[in-house]
Amino acid sequence: MCGNCYTMHMSTINADLHCHSTASDGLLSPAAVVERAHANGVDLLALTDHDELAGLEEARATAQALGLRFVNGAEFSVSWLDQTVHIVGLAFDSASPALVEGLHQIRQGRDTRAQRMSDGLAQIGIRGALEGALKYAGNPALISRSHFARHLVSIGVARDVGNVFEHYLVRGKPGFVEHEWASLEDVLGWIHGAGGIAVIAHPGRTRVDKAGMTKLFERFKDLGGEAIEVVSGVQMGADALEYARVARRYGFLASRASDFHGPGESVVDIGRSEILPPDLTPVWERLV
Ligand code: AMP
Ligand code: MN
Ligand code: MN
Ligand code: MN
Repeated sequence: MCGNCYTMHMSTINADLHCHSTASDGLLSPAAVVERAHANGVDLLALTDHDELAGLEEARATAQALGLRFVNGAEFSVSWLDQTVHIVGLAFDSASPALVEGLHQIRQGRDTRAQRMSDGLAQIGIRGALEGALKYAGNPALISRSHFARHLVSIGVARDVGNVFEHYLVRGKPGFVEHEWASLEDVLGWIHGAGGIAVIAHPGRTRVDKAGMTKLFERFKDLGGEAIEVVSGVQMGADALEYARVARRYGFLASRASDFHGPGESVVDIGRSEILPPDLTPVWERLV
């Protein structure tokens, strides 16, 4: 029994490979995210904005100035069966034309989706939701449900973001719009074509059922997918045990993530998620 593996791991490296800035639905600028990571003792950071690379340059420059190791990242929206899953890409070439074009396509769908979300909310008497949400979008090219949620909280429709999602922004609710994101095949093709590593994000947070998740793991493995977030700030602590088993079974590398969006909104701060079970191979062994 390796009694001090946990401390060994922790003292070896504090990696956080999933967080957001104002380039997508985070509350802090890319520079402020990196400064916070540094202040929290992070050694290796990836900024992983939704479907967007716009924050990477500022983040990298800030990380360099602080002596913090940084890898490129993005969180890709993927349609899987009848649900959405998120795939994090790490350490890719951000100039890869196929990857850049693929992300451009995913983002384009967000504008019409947002208009339709706003129309749905108008039908129950909440007018001007798109304009309101855009006030919260640091990047107008990347309008997300989070921006709608913040706006709806600000006008008193619900008491917090989580409540807005539950009552207005999930399937079956007035502000929800069915949307076709990218395919798993395309996303892994873009990430691998750009020399990157693919990670299944917060598997405990998806709405895909158990059979659908098993299919996802199998297909992801077949496509050369490398890793899974065993530890994520938006999963239950107990999920780590389950996804550690998945990592062992499929031979996936393990990732550790906060999925930090901002102070006051995210429960787990950057660099402060639980550590990985010591027998798993951390994905950062491929990154450093
Ligand atoms: P979108 O990509 O526009 O569908 O927005 C997805 C984002 O909404 C996620 O990345 C989270 O930041 C946020 N989100 C989704 N579900 C919830 C929830 N139940 N509570 C709080 N935030 C959520
Ligand atoms: Mn988000
Ligand atoms: Mn996500
Ligand atoms: Mn995320």
